[in-house]
Amino acid sequence: MRRTGPVEIVRPRDLGEALREVAAGGRPLAGGTDLFVRVRKGTDASPFLVDIGGIADLQGVRETETGVEIGAAATHAQILAHPATERLPVLRLALQTIGSPALRAMGTLGGNLVNASPAGDGLVPLYLLEARVNVIGPGGETSYPVAEFILGPGKTALRPGELVRSITVPWPPDGARAYFRKVGRRRALLIAVASLGALLWLDGETICEARLALGSVAPTVLRPRAVEQALVGQPLAVEALAGLREALSSAVQPISDLRASAGYRRQVAGNLLLDLVSLRSV
Ligand SMILES: Cc1cc2nc3c(=O)[nH]c(=O)nc-3n(C[C@H](O)[C@H](O)[C@H](O)COP(=O)(O)OP(=O)(O)OC[C@H]3O[C@@H](n4cnc5c(N)ncnc54)[C@H](O)[C@@H]3O)c2cc1C
Repeated sequence: MRRTGPVEIVRPRDLGEALREVAAGGRPLAGGTDLFVRVRKGTDASPFLVDIGGIADLQGVRETETGVEIGAAATHAQILAHPATERLPVLRLALQTIGSPALRAMGTLGGNLVNASPAGDGLVPLYLLEARVNVIGPGGETSYPVAEFILGPGKTALRPGELVRSITVPWPPDGARAYFRKVGRRRALLIAVASLGALLWLDGETICEARLALGSVAPTVLRPRAVEQALVGQPLAVEALAGLREALSSAVQPISDLRASAGYRRQVAGNLLLDLVSLRSV
């Protein structure tokens, strides 16, 4: 449906009012950096938008003993500025690559999640850190591991009337080295052709635990578990990583689109694995 007039936006005062508006068919609007693109293209047919950006219950970053709880409407810039996220360097590395400073000041982690793009940079660290997505709706509150919340491109486990309330990110075990890199076709406002995030635990030069997550190379962010396991016991050296490059390239399921061919994405994913040696000097 193509819109011919301006879209109606309601501004609820609190979470209860927002939930009633969403249950009545309104589409949640956080920073609008994804949604307004769809509205302008005429590909979003919601009868009205519900501005949840100012709702106190959806704001803020709260430190707990076990990790942080990030309000769904916290912007990328607010998350980056919060001292608690210094203990989550992989989250910071990824969020710093989103769009531009203006975009990070408007876009939210909740919006990045619900957008469910395989290229969503905020998703890669959430998979690595095994975050949970806390949802609230007419049936009460539910919580999903992020990998069960994201069902496919643009598809999530959200049911009608529900909102993402917050994201719980546990502290990773001590000693993790963090890596995030995305490859794209230009330097500014870059949408990933492929991205790799990693957490590695080392004993000297030997990898004792590894978590990898890839963006833009499958319908959802991918944790290549077989490659993670194969890394354990290997030295963090180019020769050892090169031996797993093929395994990683075949674990991914990329598509060809305007930005890159499937073959190129496979190759980039494999090459990014070799770049993990940059963690040796950290
Ligand atoms: C020029 C440009 C560059 C970009 N670059 C990047 C990039 O480098 N990396 C990247 O990952 N993304 C990028 N994006 C995409 C976008 O900025 C991010 O996905 C951002 O995090 C979306 O957040 P938002 O608050 O603006 O979401 P919105 O546009 O407000 O919402 C997005 C979707 O999520 C839903 N939603 C939002 N919050 C909630 C909630 N709490 N509960 C339920 N549903 C909710 C909305 O209804 C909508 O369907 C870019 C976008 C543009 C326009």
